Amino acid sequence: MQRANDIKTPINVGKEITIRGWVHRLRKQKEKTFLLIRDDRGGVIQCVFPTQQVVHLTIESSIEVTGILTADDRAPEGGYEIRGNSLKVINIADADFPIGEYQSAELLLDNRHLALRTRRMIEIAKIRSTILKFARLFFIENDWMEVTPPIIVKGAVEGGSTLFKLRYFNEEAYLSQSAQLYLEALIFSLGPVWSLTPSFRAEKSRTVRHLAEFSHLEAEAPLASLEDVLRVEERLVSYIVHNTVRERSDSLIFLKRDVTSLKDIEVPFDRISYYEAIDTLQSRDFKVVDANGDKRPIRIGDDLNIDSERELTKSALTPLFVTGYPIQIKPFYVKEDVQNKGIGLSADLLAPGGFGEIASGGMREDDILSIKKRMKIEGLDPSSYGWYIDLRRFGSVPHGGFGLGIERLVRWLVDIEDIKDTVLFPRTMSRIIP
Ligand code: ATP
Ligand code: MG
Repeated sequence: MQRANDIKTPINVGKEITIRGWVHRLRKQKEKTFLLIRDDRGGVIQCVFPTQQVVHLTIESSIEVTGILTADDRAPEGGYEIRGNSLKVINIADADFPIGEYQSAELLLDNRHLALRTRRMIEIAKIRSTILKFARLFFIENDWMEVTPPIIVKGAVEGGSTLFKLRYFNEEAYLSQSAQLYLEALIFSLGPVWSLTPSFRAEKSRTVRHLAEFSHLEAEAPLASLEDVLRVEERLVSYIVHNTVRERSDSLIFLKRDVTSLKDIEVPFDRISYYEAIDTLQSRDFKVVDANGDKRPIRIGDDLNIDSERELTKSALTPLFVTGYPIQIKPFYVKEDVQNKGIGLSADLLAPGGFGEIASGGMREDDILSIKKRMKIEGLDPSSYGWYIDLRRFGSVPHGGFGLGIERLVRWLVDIEDIKDTVLFPRTMSRIIP
């Protein structure tokens, strides 16, 4: 079967072409009708028929056309068109296809199963798939083992407020928020491991960077230092960025993404400490909204969030690690820096251009007493983490890893404000259909 993007070359001009696809656009004139056909790879080509031959066609009808390829500067999408001779109809679509040229974001989301046929969504889907391909290739090339941890779990990783509960036979269980604890169990026998799983978080605040279900790429390695973890993280991100920009340049151009700054990304990434970050924000008079809804200046001890990270990265050109957060604003498993009490051995990776956090990584607490103590401080019951604590009883080693949100990466690489457009079927507090 021939495809639109393969046939548009001078050597095919004058040849007979057969193409199958869907009527993407339809412009009927008195004598001639111009069809834009979309093939099964998302490529499009114009096709011209005498109007009386195609009067019954509707948008999204599936058809097979045969005709002669001609070069015509007026033809959209590359200056080639097919002068149609014969037409076979596979299916005539109902005439009320709801997606047109100008639509509200809500209507597009309500009809996401059909909006996935728009050029924009097709190009985003291609980029997303390429990002996943190069993520996997990076780990294959570097000899990390891919593993498949469970999604139905018993323990929380990132805090109870965002847990999705489910009934598991006769007991309560949760949808996984992160595979990290399971990856930690695997490093003792499998060495460096990674996984790509859905993670679930009942995020109640509506933001442009949170979904209730997201694709989580996580990696964990034994006998590693913080430096090792951050090096892998930055090499992975830079590898994905460069290969995706190269392989998907057409898609990025279609989406009007200026890739100059992406091409310039180099390792090592810049680093600042949490304290420097707060300092910078204070010097710019940055305010946070406190629990009562009042605005006050940001201060040491405040976590960074979507707004402060936007401020920190809005004029940055390359990704930035923020290191050395106070341990009390980090989850229980983050290891404390023994040289620097009160500071966690972890770092968040912020994307430039205001996009903010795309990954979090660091060293895990490997001492049994310290981890139990941290659990209690956070109101967790160590007895419900029995197997996890065992990992500190039997051959504990310094280890660390990171978690990266695929949608956050797509959001930055494509330059999309709303994270819902980085995923095919978004799940948020207000959306579970389609
Ligand atoms: P944030 O501070 O943005 O809420 P987080 O620190 O809670 O994120 P982590 O627990 O560090 O998130 O998860 C690792 C990565 O997973 C994040 O860096 C981010 O890329 C991604 N991620 C986390 N929560 C979400 C979400 N609700 N939707 C999409 N991606 C997410
Ligand atoms: Mg984080």
